[in-house]
Amino acid sequence: MLEQLTSILNQYGDAFQKQIPRYRQNRFVQIVVLRETKSHAIFTTEGQTLDVERLQAGIVQRTPIDRVVMYKRKQIAPERRTGKALLRDLSILGDANGGSGKKDKKISPAECQIMGGSCGSCPDCILYGFAATTGTGSQRARVLTDSGFVVRGISQVMRNIKLNAIQDTIAGGIAGSAFASRENVLPQIFIPTVETLLDVTSVEFIYVLGNILKTTRYGAESNREGFIRNHILGIYFSDVELFSNLELTQRYYDAIAETEGETFPDYLELAHFTGNWANVEQTALAQAVGRRRKVENLGELLSGVQVLYEDEKVLRPMLQKLVSDAQRYEKEVKGKDKGSESETGEDEEEA
Ligand SMILES: [Zn+2]
Repeated sequence: MLEQLTSILNQYGDAFQKQIPRYRQNRFVQIVVLRETKSHAIFTTEGQTLDVERLQAGIVQRTPIDRVVMYKRKQIAPERRTGKALLRDLSILGDANGGSGKKDKKISPAECQIMGGSCGSCPDCILYGFAATTGTGSQRARVLTDSGFVVRGISQVMRNIKLNAIQDTIAGGIAGSAFASRENVLPQIFIPTVETLLDVTSVEFIYVLGNILKTTRYGAESNREGFIRNHILGIYFSDVELFSNLELTQRYYDAIAETEGETFPDYLELAHFTGNWANVEQTALAQAVGRRRKVENLGELLSGVQVLYEDEKVLRPMLQKLVSDAQRYEKEVKGKDKGSESETGEDEEEA
């Protein structure tokens, strides 16, 4: 399995960077991820109601519908945390941080936090980006995402769930208005998304893919998080962005509406999405302008990644390479720029 993984990565070797480059070369890797809720979930930033946008149902079917939104930071932050936890658990950040002797003001990679204390040199910072904090400059994200949209309209995917916070004083049966409730997304709801990797090494690619495959908890506050299963529909290498989240959702709407007849079905399952993927993929690629290739042996790639993450003997050196590449970049490429024409970091991913 591992030999297979290596040979697949070699087969697409020119889609990756040998080292993290200084300048952008637009080598894109697009991972199409179908997110499926496996429990009730809340994607709101705050408050009781779900975030909704009114959007064209499909690209062909142009009636507007209100769609629940899963904001990009709600997708990426949990995956970043998965990766960081693994690096911490295997003590890889601590090991590789050779110069631990001198205590300068910089945060050490082992102490690095996504929010409010970025070290500026760990793989998470270098790959997913960080906003400027004291003395670290900033780094543009090379994992790009957008908000994702549920395929069906809100009335088909939402339930108002009453909260337990009912005071004793009302318990006696007074018909009160004190029942708090919160809008939840139902289980078995699908959000087609794409994660776009820009100018990554093959090791960084495996790291991001592993984070996607391993992360299962997304959503609002920790005690109400929703279980989500990520299904990988396809992986593409190109010099342009081939897919967008909203277009994927709309193309799926069209494809399902077309196969199901007049009315859009009230019940959707995974097969609707895997079954229509070839059709959705084809219509998306038909409009793309640029060079592109698709991973043909996706199943083999994914089982190779699975085996890799099961075996600490192989996983550890892989992650050590990830860390040393990031440090090399920070010292030899970024360090030399000294902010001369540094591309400033964009938004912070964490919520
Ligand atoms: Zn860091």
